[in-house]
Amino acid sequence: MNNKDKFLHKSPRFNQIGWPKLKYFYETPYQNRKYFDFFNNYAKKKYTFQATTCLCNNGDDLTLSMNDRSGVEFITVICQNCGLIRAKNYFTDNDAIDFYSNHFWKIENDLHDNEYENPDDIYENLRIAGIEKSNLIKKFLNIGENKPVILDIGGRIGGILENFKPECKLVLADYFQPYLDYAKTKNIETINGGLEDINFKPDVIILSHVIEHWTNFENEIQNLIRIQKPNHTLTYIEFPGIDSLKNGRRDGDLLGDLYLPHRHYFASYVFEDIMNRYGFERVYLDSEIKGIFKYTGILQEKVCNNFVRVKNDLIAAENKRFKYTLQSHIRKHIPKFFLNLLRNIRKPRNLSEKIDSP
Ligand SMILES: [Zn+2]
Repeated sequence: MNNKDKFLHKSPRFNQIGWPKLKYFYETPYQNRKYFDFFNNYAKKKYTFQATTCLCNNGDDLTLSMNDRSGVEFITVICQNCGLIRAKNYFTDNDAIDFYSNHFWKIENDLHDNEYENPDDIYENLRIAGIEKSNLIKKFLNIGENKPVILDIGGRIGGILENFKPECKLVLADYFQPYLDYAKTKNIETINGGLEDINFKPDVIILSHVIEHWTNFENEIQNLIRIQKPNHTLTYIEFPGIDSLKNGRRDGDLLGDLYLPHRHYFASYVFEDIMNRYGFERVYLDSEIKGIFKYTGILQEKVCNNFVRVKNDLIAAENKRFKYTLQSHIRKHIPKFFLNLLRNIRKPRNLSEKIDSP
């Protein structure tokens, strides 16, 4: 069997629709009852899934997978003209509003109606998770006499912005009003909305784990361009890079990344090429991806074909999946193993002490 034959929906793992059987060694497929029922019942009846085209406008796709990580039917394809991976069919903008306003966080966190996570906890967790990102942004940010304006798009409750106090003016845009109200108590200005609702030009725009959810990339990127100060605004973008799987992210398991709310799956170099075509220039980029871009307005015309590179990265990840998973198990279990060993060493001594003592 050559590499092309193993790539990838020919493998049963990528052609497995239905409630998944748990694997005891591998993490995927995940069992997630709320998610599985939502997409198989509610979304299938209420949402309209439309055929998508690649951002490079080419129609030469190869199927990657028939299912997502939880056994929901979800076809992903890779474009053979540029290497971008995307959902073959995706729900409409209106469905997306319903999904992200009413269902997404409840499904993610297994919450009931009218129940939501403790705002103090989310704020603090986002603050801590955001320390490294904010330090990276600050390296490229000139904090002068004027207070730079930092805008967090889709930042839930705005915890990351805490790391920019007190030098900066902070703005959060998202859709869940109780969390926006909480952010206000932390001296963060709030906007109930997304990129299209911003009417000023910030110095930093944060899009952390947002861009892979965009239902309409073309519209959103134009909204993003509209609020840029050319050659000045730092746009920070973060999402899981497909090319970091081979380095051990998610134990090298592509299936774990396949998840219905994500429309696009970018390798860092594919993403950079897309951004160049829209007039953005890289300031910083790694494969995880943490990326910082500036808008120059200079558009790269040619599409770079990264198909073979992405394909080879995916095959490399698949080939290392067993090794990475084994390493994860060892890391998880070795401390327990030593603890048990220590306990076992102590036990006979304690026993003998007890026997010897009167
Ligand atoms: Zn393409």
